[in-house]
Amino acid sequence: MRTALVTGANRGIGLEVARGLGERGFRVLAGARDRARGEEAAEALRHAGHDARAVVLDVADSATVGPAVEAAEGRLDVVVNNAGIYPGGRPSELDLDVAEQAWQVNALGAWRVAQAAIPLMRERGSGRIVNVSSGAGSLASMDASMPAYNVSKAALNAITRVLAAELRGSGILVNAVCPGWVRTDMGGPGAPRSPEEGAASVLWAVDLPDDGPTGGFFRDGRPVPW
Ligand code: NAP
Repeated sequence: MRTALVTGANRGIGLEVARGLGERGFRVLAGARDRARGEEAAEALRHAGHDARAVVLDVADSATVGPAVEAAEGRLDVVVNNAGIYPGGRPSELDLDVAEQAWQVNALGAWRVAQAAIPLMRERGSGRIVNVSSGAGSLASMDASMPAYNVSKAALNAITRVLAAELRGSGILVNAVCPGWVRTDMGGPGAPRSPEEGAASVLWAVDLPDDGPTGGFFRDGRPVPW
């Protein structure tokens, strides 16, 4: 059975992505750093008729990454690197421990999970790695707001590029996607998009055909400037 792993699947866009994957017939591994919150999300997905189970996964803790991928039991078709944190601050004064934390979760977290998943994808000669980035990580329009976040998302975009370049021709597509500004705990209640709309932008990269783009940065299926 086609299997997908979603990080940060217990709420927000990740939960909606997990739901969308369930609707597509995937067995969903719902990654959550808190076991109880993950179980709650998986239970809600199962209640909606999907094949889902929770896996403990703190993307900043490499000890949890191997076991989460092993839960795929040898077949992993899709990884959605959705987990993220959104710290504030000013570039000139930011506590760099905060930048380090954003880097660990938003950038290295995705890289870690991708590294663990790629051997399984290589075995099948097929896979989709979708890195949930943000327009805030676009160097073309970057400003001083949320510097730790913006820089970590720019790094995530670069990680997307290097992985895609290595994996070109392997059947594994690696793309970065922006979900748009979404009404979640992170996006706040004033955001124009529903979590379902944000998830749709992400799921576009899951649905790509084998000859689809890799190493790109997209929102709603359209390229976003780097
Ligand atoms: P959210 O509601 O704040 O949810 C964030 C998720 O990430 C939660 O499940 C959280 O788990 C998880 N998480 C945080 N640190 C983690 C870690 N170390 N390991 C595993 N999971 C961790 O955010 P969201 O709006 O759904 O955002 C999802 C993704 O979309 C993020 O990558 C974000 O940067 C991106 N994005 C969002 C927007 C927006 O407007 N909302 C715009 C552009 C991009 P806990 O419940 O345990 O904290």
